[in-house]
Amino acid sequence: MDPQAEVEVLRRAAEAAPQCIDFLRDLVTIPSPSGAERLACEHVAREMERLGYDEVHVDGMGNVLGRIGNGPRVIAFDAHVDTVGISNPTQWKVDPFGGSITGGVLHGRGASDQKGGLAAIVHGAAILRHVGLPEDVTVWVTATVNGEDCVGLAWQYIINESGLKPEAVVIAMPSHLGVCFGQRGRVEIRLTTYGVGAHGAQPERGANAIYAMAPIVQGIERLHGRLKKSHPRLGKGSIAVTGISSQSASLTAIPDECTIYLDRRITIGETREAALAELEGLPAVQAVDAVFDVLHYEKPSWKGLSYPTEKCFPAWETPEDSPAVRAALATAANVLGRKPRIHRSNFSSNACTTAGMFGIPTVGFGPADEVHSHSVNDQIPLVQLQPAMAFYALFPSFYLKAE
Ligand SMILES: [Zn+2]
Repeated sequence: MDPQAEVEVLRRAAEAAPQCIDFLRDLVTIPSPSGAERLACEHVAREMERLGYDEVHVDGMGNVLGRIGNGPRVIAFDAHVDTVGISNPTQWKVDPFGGSITGGVLHGRGASDQKGGLAAIVHGAAILRHVGLPEDVTVWVTATVNGEDCVGLAWQYIINESGLKPEAVVIAMPSHLGVCFGQRGRVEIRLTTYGVGAHGAQPERGANAIYAMAPIVQGIERLHGRLKKSHPRLGKGSIAVTGISSQSASLTAIPDECTIYLDRRITIGETREAALAELEGLPAVQAVDAVFDVLHYEKPSWKGLSYPTEKCFPAWETPEDSPAVRAALATAANVLGRKPRIHRSNFSSNACTTAGMFGIPTVGFGPADEVHSHSVNDQIPLVQLQPAMAFYALFPSFYLKAE
């Protein structure tokens, strides 16, 4: 893209900002918890059509895919359209679905994660259509579903079932306009101990499954402190017990089963298999008849499609000297007029599938700060939409140049 076209992108991003804000505000007023994103998806599809996308369709899972261009080199911009719930509404200072704007900040559920980024990719790609796409390039803009419930599942579906496999992906995560090129992964594990039920008045006649579990819980707490593998940017893995339940004939009976749930964050170099082997190696686990497995996800999407997967989300990293990362850093420097910040994300994103499972060079860049995500202060500074739109419009040409 010549310097004149770059100036044109910035001008059009400024011009498009009010429309992008209106679109985002409407999107925030449409509740879209995982599995119930239909209305939000229809809203996104209508906006893509209004903006003149070359093709807009909703796939079998319910993801909205909009295409611009028809070249052989495919780049995708992705954001998930679903949000987490609102938990206790009395803790919110504003209506989480009211779309209220104060002091240039839009408040509401999903404003940061990832409806802000979604609005910016939808409008950023439209700017690219106006100024002219590099001729070899196709851009797919994806508004994906079930991202909160089962991160990356939408991209497993897109790549496996539709055959769309971009050569580079940008995730519009709330990076506060920083460039992200790696995130830790996660494995969700369930571990069960067994006992023998008996009357609660005669505990010695049974075997208490909770007592069998107790040393395992302590062992896991100690295991967390022993995890050594570290990555210079992503840090160490972690393990935590995040849930516990038991089964007994009544609260006056000795439990015959106890189950805990584990959130094992994995850093680069740690795998599902290694995480399970560590658990198996714990003396407390070996001492009893414990059974563990990785959880599965199979809840249906809003289209009614169940696409079962293991809740194992790999860590990912795109090399700093790769064309995708160099292009992202150069594009961000161009639109921000300064050296961009490298964003060290604490969360997961659909990149766990695109980069972690399929090895597609992936970067994260988007408006809003992840500290507000999932919180009762969910918000986005609207001033960040304009540079974000310009970023997406410029990224493909910087990417081609970076090779
Ligand atoms: Zn989230």
